[in-house]
Amino acid sequence: MEEKRTINFGAGPAKLPESVLLQAQKELINYNGTGISVLEMSHRSSDFDKIMNTTENLLRELLNIPDNYKVMFFQGGGSGQFSAVPLNLIGLKGDKCAEYIVTGTWSSKAAKEAEKYGNINVVHPKLDSYTKIPDPSSWTLNPSASYVYYCCNETVHGVEWNFVPDTAGVVLVSDMSSNFLSRSVDVSKFGLIFAGAQKNVGCAGVTVVIVREDLVGGALSDCPIVLDYKVQADNKSLYNTPPCFSIYIMNLVLEWIKNSGGTAAMDSLNKQKSSMIYDLINASDGFYMCPVDVPCRSRMNVPFRVGKREENEALEKKFLEGASKRGMISLKGHRSVGGIRASLYNAVTLEDAQVLAAYMKEFLKEHQ
Ligand code: PMP
Repeated sequence: MEEKRTINFGAGPAKLPESVLLQAQKELINYNGTGISVLEMSHRSSDFDKIMNTTENLLRELLNIPDNYKVMFFQGGGSGQFSAVPLNLIGLKGDKCAEYIVTGTWSSKAAKEAEKYGNINVVHPKLDSYTKIPDPSSWTLNPSASYVYYCCNETVHGVEWNFVPDTAGVVLVSDMSSNFLSRSVDVSKFGLIFAGAQKNVGCAGVTVVIVREDLVGGALSDCPIVLDYKVQADNKSLYNTPPCFSIYIMNLVLEWIKNSGGTAAMDSLNKQKSSMIYDLINASDGFYMCPVDVPCRSRMNVPFRVGKREENEALEKKFLEGASKRGMISLKGHRSVGGIRASLYNAVTLEDAQVLAAYMKEFLKEHQ
């Protein structure tokens, strides 16, 4: 029986492709003739080994990951990597120093966590609002830093980098949790990329870490063993029990991405969906207002306010109620910034975005 599905614009955990959910449902009781569920399967079994290998290989293929990079699966979320990154990399150079570019909530949290482990320098003058990327000409980069860190897409503020920062040879680390596999990326420019799965590539529970081999093996002595890249690399992410079911779901989503045309197809779809909404915002004569600088407006998370400043909240409440009546949910902005946020991750279809756009037009006509 066909289920009626709500359109989910949530920022994460987020929408999954329906075909993935159906396949997981079909295989839930009896995976591939094993007579058991992946939920019950030993992480050391040959069936699970196959799932791990296929998942890694799909990531390698879809992102064109060079051979000198390790691909690993961690628990602990993106936030776990806020600690793992400094614990593993900050000691690679004697000064225990790292550089952070702080463009929103997530890079700010990462920098704060890293301060526990070394000297952290924010490379640019502090931003008065998280609506832009600080001009690279204002950065002071320390060439003896162990790494430079940035968040490629700030999920809360809707600020996305459309260029890879030039770090003059210092190792570059990026949190791609909320735009991973949504666009093409040249992995060879990075020392390390990490991403939680629950936005573009699966459900919560697993975080992908892609790290250049020569950066593995220098963890601080007090690094928890489960966060030690060398330990996990040497054990193929099986030092301890991995998040098996989340890895399996990621496997299905990656297959879906591949069958949908790969990263390039996601790139073009995401461009199309987000342009549709931004064009409408731009044409609304200020009724809808996106505070983010145009060149760094995120394709993944589109934040906007509704109406004139003094009536914002009342109108936004009405907007959300109307959306919900039309079967659209999770459009409320992050509690720290308010307003509306439409997250348009890979699994959100063009049709889903069209339903939102049509509603925004209707709401504008009624309330302008
Ligand atoms: N980085 C970014 C860009 C995020 O959007 C999030 C979560 N929304 C995190 C890190 C933290 O991820 P987690 O909740 O999995 O720790």
